[in-house]
Amino acid sequence: MYDPSKTKNPFAMLTNQLERLLSIRQTDDENLKDYVKKFKQQCDNVREVLGTKLLEEFVTKTAEYMDEADNSKKDKIKEGAFNRWTAFLLLKYSDTRKYSSLKKNFQTQFALKNDQMPRTISAMTDVLQAHAWDATYNETLKQKKKQKEDERKKEEEAKSLEQKTVKCFCCGKEGHFSTDCPMKDKIPADQWANKQGNFEQTGKVEDQQTETSGATKCVQWNGLQRMNIGTMTEYMNGKTHAQTKGEKHSI
Ligand SMILES: [Zn+2]
Repeated sequence: MYDPSKTKNPFAMLTNQLERLLSIRQTDDENLKDYVKKFKQQCDNVREVLGTKLLEEFVTKTAEYMDEADNSKKDKIKEGAFNRWTAFLLLKYSDTRKYSSLKKNFQTQFALKNDQMPRTISAMTDVLQAHAWDATYNETLKQKKKQKEDERKKEEEAKSLEQKTVKCFCCGKEGHFSTDCPMKDKIPADQWANKQGNFEQTGKVEDQQTETSGATKCVQWNGLQRMNIGTMTEYMNGKTHAQTKGEKHSI
């Protein structure tokens, strides 16, 4: 019978599972619960293919094990080896911006021969849960939030501006600036629509105010979209809206 597990090199499988475990990181904005869940899952996979003997063998070479006189305690150290390793990894791969002070504390305590590091994933999860995030991270979060809010506001402003209509000062029609008006050479300046008594702006965006208003960019973009190729080229060549307008008027 066909068995797909027999077609794969078992060492490749083992390596694959280990690599997956060792490349897990708590990603940006990933909450602790999701991070722990995916981490646990991969620990189970590794335990299944690797077993725990390798870790048990490993701890017998540590100072803690060798210095321990009590045989039952020695056995406990061996039994807990795999769990301790994975608890260590869970902390190591957690978001450094949130937990760096916690990580440093454990290192310091260990160096002082007072190892306080939780020895199971669930105990480590509790510690991470209880940890007040590092101040710098909270600051970063605040900044990020503000940035997002600012971006959203800008987008909204741009949108509302787009919806407003530009009315040409020259011919009085909506939808283009006077610089783009097909009539601008035919209608003498003193007879432009804005010089007539009945000229009314339909929107807040006014033809000639675009360079100074805060809305400049959006409005100019609106204008750009309506420019013909010639005007566009002038624009691209570095002439501003105002310069173009000024030149045309002086001719
Ligand atoms: Zn016009």
